[in-house]
Amino acid sequence: MITEWKIQVPEKRIKKKFFGNLKAEVIDKGLCSHCCTCVAICPVGGIVAGDKPIDFPTWVKDCVDCGACVRVCPRWDYKPLSGLGDYIEIFAAKSKRFVGQDGAMVTEITASALEMGLIDVALFVGRDESWRTQVVMIRSIEQLYDRKITGTKYSYAELIPALKDTVMRYDAIGVVGTPCMVSGIRRLQENFKKFKRVKLVIGLFCTENFYYHQLYDFLLKKKGIDLRNAVKTDIKKGEFIVTLKDGNEISFSVKELDEIIPSGCRVCQDFSSVESDVSIGSVGSKAGFSTVIVRTDIAKQVTDYIREKGYAEFDEANVEAVKKLCDFKVKIHPYPPT
Ligand SMILES: Cc1cc2nc3c(=O)[nH]c(=O)nc-3n(C[C@H](O)[C@H](O)[C@H](O)COP(=O)(O)OP(=O)(O)OC[C@H]3O[C@@H](n4cnc5c(N)ncnc54)[C@H](O)[C@@H]3O)c2cc1C
Repeated sequence: MITEWKIQVPEKRIKKKFFGNLKAEVIDKGLCSHCCTCVAICPVGGIVAGDKPIDFPTWVKDCVDCGACVRVCPRWDYKPLSGLGDYIEIFAAKSKRFVGQDGAMVTEITASALEMGLIDVALFVGRDESWRTQVVMIRSIEQLYDRKITGTKYSYAELIPALKDTVMRYDAIGVVGTPCMVSGIRRLQENFKKFKRVKLVIGLFCTENFYYHQLYDFLLKKKGIDLRNAVKTDIKKGEFIVTLKDGNEISFSVKELDEIIPSGCRVCQDFSSVESDVSIGSVGSKAGFSTVIVRTDIAKQVTDYIREKGYAEFDEANVEAVKKLCDFKVKIHPYPPT
């Protein structure tokens, strides 16, 4: 039970309950990344996310003032992470077994880690017919052939609250997330022993994420796109591209997304998920391949296994191109904001 977990209480900035501090210092200042780490850890389940800013509507009455939310928030005392981070090796690769957003290496690494017995289950962000995100627990490799489970969804997901339930039930867990989610998972691991059960953290390259109602439900619908016919959404070379079931593509400039970039993404400088075990993205490799940054021993074990088994095709990555995007993210997302 979460309530049995003891943590060191952080120092308050204002004379209010801890959620009042989180609200004043992170949410109201526009720094919240919507990673949902606080939602997961609140012992009274009062903090809620959904497709809107994080809130605890009854905090004045119901917050038990334990400080857990502030303790695990990656944006409390915010010092942006950036750059390529530490790594063992970088390469480009394409899975021979799975179809994904790019080279399906996120899926391949997860499948191989399951096959090796390094993890019992993994958490993915899948989607429904209308592209609403849904957290999916992967128990078997067969699930990874479902195209709604693989691929990129450009909207927030409540992955970390689902991870809290998963660490209660399984000993070895894999998880895939955006850089802010990866940082949230690391804060949970530093503070709560149970989260040490997360053995493999796959981080995605990320520039920005969006609220579902603003991107899919409003902007894409306004363009006449029937999301039930869409099989892929992608951002490539400054264009947002929707691929339809019949193979046709609808694209428009990403500049049209400027107005709906959430404030918490505007202050994020971590493009490459520097705190992950292995980071994966599309920049830095040719079409149909993923760029893979192997950072820790467990990730190296899995990628070595993939090579031995011949599960993927390998190529060189363009490291300079990835560095350029890391620098670009720092430039377009200044902190403190100007
Ligand atoms: C919001 C977002 C922004 C991104 N921006 C960039 C970018 O600017 N440049 C770049 O090179 N790459 C970016 N990526 C990563 C890229 O889109 C691919 O996810 C990556 O190349 C892996 O491809 P793959 O074929 O190996 O993945 P697959 O094998 O298809 O697996 C995709 C994985 O992504 C996870 N996922 C999908 N949507 C979400 C979500 N909303 N939140 C958390 N996890 C999710 C799924 O659970 C799955 O595990 C972004 C990804 C996301 C989610």
